[in-house]
Amino acid sequence: MAVPFIDVAIIGGGPGGLTLAHGLRKNGIETAVFERDHVRADYVQGFRLRIRQRAIQALETNLPPHLFEKFLATVGKAPRKRVTLDEHFDPIDSAAPRPEPEDAHDDKSVSRITLRQILLSELGEIFHPGREFVRAERQVDGTVIAYFADGSAVRTHVLVGADGANSKVRQQLLPDFKIFDTGVRRLAGKLTLQDATRHGIAPLFLDHGVSVRPRSGHSIMITSHHVDPEAYARYGLIGADDPSYRNTAGFHFNNTTSYIWWNTAYELDELGPDSVLATLDGTQLLDVLLEKIGHWDKRILSVIRHTDPSTVAYLKVRSSQPGAVWETGPVTLLGDAIHAMTYFRALGGNSAIYDAGLLAAELVAARRHGKPLLAALHDYENAMRAHGYEAVQSSLSAMLNNTAAGRTSRGSPQAASAP
Ligand SMILES: Cc1cc2nc3c(=O)[nH]c(=O)nc-3n(C[C@H](O)[C@H](O)[C@H](O)COP(=O)(O)OP(=O)(O)OC[C@H]3O[C@@H](n4cnc5c(N)ncnc54)[C@H](O)[C@@H]3O)c2cc1C
Repeated sequence: MAVPFIDVAIIGGGPGGLTLAHGLRKNGIETAVFERDHVRADYVQGFRLRIRQRAIQALETNLPPHLFEKFLATVGKAPRKRVTLDEHFDPIDSAAPRPEPEDAHDDKSVSRITLRQILLSELGEIFHPGREFVRAERQVDGTVIAYFADGSAVRTHVLVGADGANSKVRQQLLPDFKIFDTGVRRLAGKLTLQDATRHGIAPLFLDHGVSVRPRSGHSIMITSHHVDPEAYARYGLIGADDPSYRNTAGFHFNNTTSYIWWNTAYELDELGPDSVLATLDGTQLLDVLLEKIGHWDKRILSVIRHTDPSTVAYLKVRSSQPGAVWETGPVTLLGDAIHAMTYFRALGGNSAIYDAGLLAAELVAARRHGKPLLAALHDYENAMRAHGYEAVQSSLSAMLNNTAAGRTSRGSPQAASAP
C-alpha cells in the first residue's frame, strides 16, 4: 500500500503543534497534525495559561487575523493588582518580583480549552485525532516515514515532534534525554466566582493576585480568571462549553465560568507519601492541606474550604535536563518535547508557541525563499535551544527559590508564583 506524503508532519496537537500548523497553512505549506487523543482531559486542561507577549506575537503572526481577533476578544483577565499577606491576613512589604519585559501583558489569562477551540478552528482536514505516533524511520532519499499505532503511516520531508514532555519522537531521536522528578509536589483547586460570592469569600481574592507567605511553611498563590460572557457570545462556538467534556462531573473543564484558583507547592513527603496522596480524592486532598494550614486566618482558609473538590489534584513537578544538542536532520522537536520545565515561571506553553513561530518562519524561508531546508532547521534549533534551555533553567531556579522560601520563611521575593 502506498504511504501518503505530506511536506511537514506534526506529531501532537498541543498549543505548539497547532500554532505551527496554522503558520504553515497560512503560508501555503502543506502540513498535517497527528494527535493521539480525541479529547484533552489531562488535569491541567481545566486551568488557564498565563500567556505573555512572546507567545501573543507568535499567535498574531501565525493565525489568520480573524482567529487572532477571537483570541484577543475571548482571553480571560487576571487581576493586575497584587498583594502579599502573611497567614494572619496582614499585608507584608515584600520586595517586588524582578519585572520581566513580557510582564506588561501578564493580565492575559487564557483558558486552555478556549485556546484549543481557537487553534483547532479551521484546521479541519489537516488535523487527525486518534493517530498515536509510535516510531519513525529515515529513508535513503532523505524523507522520513512516521508510523502510527493504528497501523497507518505517512512519509514526510520534516517530522516535527510537538508531542509533549513524554515525546515518543524525542525518545527515538535522543534516547539519553532526561526528564526528572524534581521532588516538588503541587496542589491546586478552583471555585466559581458565583460560589465565592455565595460563601462570602473576601473581595480581595476577587480583584487581586494574592500571595500568602506564612512565617513558616509554604506559600499559597490565590488569584482569579475572569471570563467575559458577552465576548464569548459574540464568537459563536469559540468560548462555548466544549461538548467533549459534557460527561465530566463538576466545573473543572467548563471554560465559560469565571473562577478563583489557588496553588501551593510542597517538598516530597511533606504532605504525605506519594503512594497515599495518589489514592486521595479532591476532598481528602483538601483535608490534607487544611491540616497543615488550619491555624491560618479564616478568610484564607475559606477559599480552600469552599474549593470545588472536583478541581483539586496533586501533581508531581517534573523538568527536563536542559542542554541536549544533536545533528540537524529531517526530524526536529518543539515545546515540551524538548524543553519541558517546571510551571514556576509559567513559561512552558509560551515557549512552545514561540518555538512554533520560529519554526514556521524558517520553514517559510526554506519553502518560499530558497533557504536550504537543513540550514533552516539548524537555525530554528539553535534559536529554540537558546531561549528554551534558558527558560528550563530559570523555571527550575524559581521552583528552588519557592520551596526554599517555604523552609526559611520569607526568604525570597519569588516565594509565591502565579503560573
Ligand atoms: C501545573 C502547570 C501549570 C502551567 N501553567 C502554565 C502557564 O501558566 N503558562 C505557560 O505558558 N505554561 C504553563 N504550563 C506549561 C504548559 O502546560 C506546557 O508547556 C504546554 O502545554 C506545552 O505545549 P506543547 O504543545 O509543547 O505540548 P502539550 O501541550 O503537552 O501537547 C502535546 C500533544 O501531543 C499529544 N501526543 C502525545 N504523545 C503523542 C503521540 N505519541 N502521538 C500523537 N500525539 C501525541 C498529546 O495528546 C498533546 O495533545 C503549565 C504546566 C503545568 C503542569
